[in-house]
Amino acid sequence: MDMQPKKVGVLSCSGEAEAEGTICRNAVRLVMEKYRPDVVTTLCLPLYLAGDTGEREFAKKFPVISVDGCGKLCARRATEKYSGTVQDAIDLRALLEEWGVTEKLSRSHPGELEDKLAERLAAEIVKRIDAIIEDGKIVER
Ligand code: SF4
Repeated sequence: MDMQPKKVGVLSCSGEAEAEGTICRNAVRLVMEKYRPDVVTTLCLPLYLAGDTGEREFAKKFPVISVDGCGKLCARRATEKYSGTVQDAIDLRALLEEWGVTEKLSRSHPGELEDKLAERLAAEIVKRIDAIIEDGKIVER
């Protein structure tokens, strides 16, 4: 029987208090619904932190990419604490610096800029998912 996982887990931070957290959640939704719908699975970070045992099997079952809004890395740290090492990790605030984005982002009224950044982040996540597939860490359909 083939024990290779069939999905990549992509776990976003919950980041309600930070504009970057909302961008992360939106980017993960884009990846799940539009760009790699058959390949990605996710879970709710708060449920994970609340101690759901099924959810804590997550990183044991799937290679995980954590997607965090800032350097506090809540999704990455939660995964590594409760479930296992992450395969790859994104810190959006560090990425924004790398991309030279200096505009102030809105948490309460996200607009065109935040939408564009969610798309750009989604493309980055897709790139990393594809690298995991190319490495043979999941079974392709
Ligand atoms: S990583 Fe940063 S933005 Fe995300 S939940 Fe943690 S503190 Fe908030």
